[in-house]
Amino acid sequence: MAPQTNRFVTVKHDPASKVSAKKRVQDFHEIIKPLDSKKAAGQSSRCAQCGVPFCQSACPLHNNIPDWLAMMAEGKEKEAWELSAQTSTMPEICGRICPQDRLCEGLCVLEQSQWGHVTIGSIEKYLSDKAFDEGWITPITPLIELSTSVGIIGSGPAALAAADRLRSNGHQVHIYERSDRAGGLLIYGIPGFKLEKSVVQKRIDRLIQSGVQFHLNHEIGQTESFDDLKGRHDALLIATGVYKSRSLGVPQPVFAEGKGTIAALDYLTHANRVDLGDYLDMGMTKSLNAKGQRVIVIGGGDTAMDCVRTAVRQGAVSVTCLYRRDRANMPGSAREVSHAEEEGVIFEWLSAPKALLGDEHKITSVRVQSMRLVKNDLTNRSGIEAIEGHERDLSADMVIEALGFEPEDLPSLFGVPNLVLSRHGTIKVNPKTFETSIKGVYAAGDIVRGASLVVWAVREGQDCAAQIHQALSQGQLSPKPIETSHEARLS
Ligand code: FAD
Ligand code: SF4
Ligand code: SF4
Repeated sequence: MAPQTNRFVTVKHDPASKVSAKKRVQDFHEIIKPLDSKKAAGQSSRCAQCGVPFCQSACPLHNNIPDWLAMMAEGKEKEAWELSAQTSTMPEICGRICPQDRLCEGLCVLEQSQWGHVTIGSIEKYLSDKAFDEGWITPITPLIELSTSVGIIGSGPAALAAADRLRSNGHQVHIYERSDRAGGLLIYGIPGFKLEKSVVQKRIDRLIQSGVQFHLNHEIGQTESFDDLKGRHDALLIATGVYKSRSLGVPQPVFAEGKGTIAALDYLTHANRVDLGDYLDMGMTKSLNAKGQRVIVIGGGDTAMDCVRTAVRQGAVSVTCLYRRDRANMPGSAREVSHAEEEGVIFEWLSAPKALLGDEHKITSVRVQSMRLVKNDLTNRSGIEAIEGHERDLSADMVIEALGFEPEDLPSLFGVPNLVLSRHGTIKVNPKTFETSIKGVYAAGDIVRGASLVVWAVREGQDCAAQIHQALSQGQLSPKPIETSHEARLS
């Protein structure tokens, strides 16, 4: 039979279609339409089956992309799924929200040679959605049950990925989450138009059905001390993410209620709760509702893009994004910028806030300083400098700060001064074992790496789980685990 791949000359690059901008801004549903099986197979058949697949090297999970594309092209969907699930515990999520233009698809040789990349992300999403629909994804039933127990602090992607792998190895897994819902930023950060909540919930439900125990509204350092938790488990994993918002350091009025600006995560969490149905009325927290307002978002990363697009959906009168560099130097995904532009967001490039101005009640405008790029010999990234005398005031009713996140002070919050940090305030780990300065305590995800990507959190959660499993099964952390039969556990 002739090979089903290498068809990039005859099969045109045809990415998954999007809901029209006019329609999609009316709700918080995902904007990328699902592929059908014919298109998924056809687009997979374009893959050139490179001997050195750059797509795979660019994927933090090193997904075996060419092999599952070849299986897809031959119509072997279940086999393709099984292969894809070997390296990723969350392909339906990564397929949706990885910035593929900077990862697998950006480095696809077909993209580099002007043929247009293989649409890897949407094919991965198609495959994993199909696996859920067909019942190929079932609860985890470990071959053996072990008596060893692992406590995980946090329930974002790093925690969920680690829980999946640890449970598969037979360990008893407990997740402690300070919020009222599991999922971390997958639930309360990333809006539904990129990742619908039901997609995340399916993964969480599967872990619950697999015997992973979730303890919600349980904040380590508040509800329970770190030492008490450590005493109850053979190993601990800290996967608490980074949540301290960076603040704008410019002159601004201070009001009786505090600052006049809104922190991006407060804004997005509220909008996500509305989407989840927690509030019947969008106006419950009026200050966090952009309806009828002129909104300015300061920042150029993924969080800023989520804020501007949320404000459009809430019915803002105008939404402007201020970024001090230009489009080419934005930290956020170029695709997200295009989506935002299609939805009517105005970008003010090379524009830095100089001051916030207000009346006695609220902020009324942002004084904007025009910037220019300058060559920076020390880094690859361009530097910036102010253009003297070029200032303007932009009127605003609502100003959102989306300037990134830093770690909270965990040693103080946890009451464990011997937890060693990096100079950035993230937790220092042994890069091979993920173990922190405290024996039997591991860390992974944003709290180690700093604000990053879901796919990296998944990778670290998985790798860290493998290290915990190894240490536990070799009896390095506690007496060797006792095997219990599956029946004994269920009785
Ligand atoms: P988190 O997801 O932050 O989860 C940490 C969890 O720990 C939280 O649930 C928190 O409540 C809990 N916790 C913290 N302290 C305690 C405690 N003391 N006790 C108990 N629980 C605690 N990445 C992408 O790849 N694509 C995107 O499109 C994208 N969009 C993003 C949009 C926004 C608005 C933000 C903020 C981030 C985005 N990211 C995106 C980044 C991505 O969400 C993070 O890199 C990823 O979620 C980090 O995973 P994590 O498991 O380390 O931490
Ligand atoms: Fe691409 Fe992300 Fe999937 Fe890797 S995990 S193949 S980078 S979409
Ligand atoms: Fe296929 Fe592109 Fe990967 Fe090459 S780089 S194996 S063409 S997906």
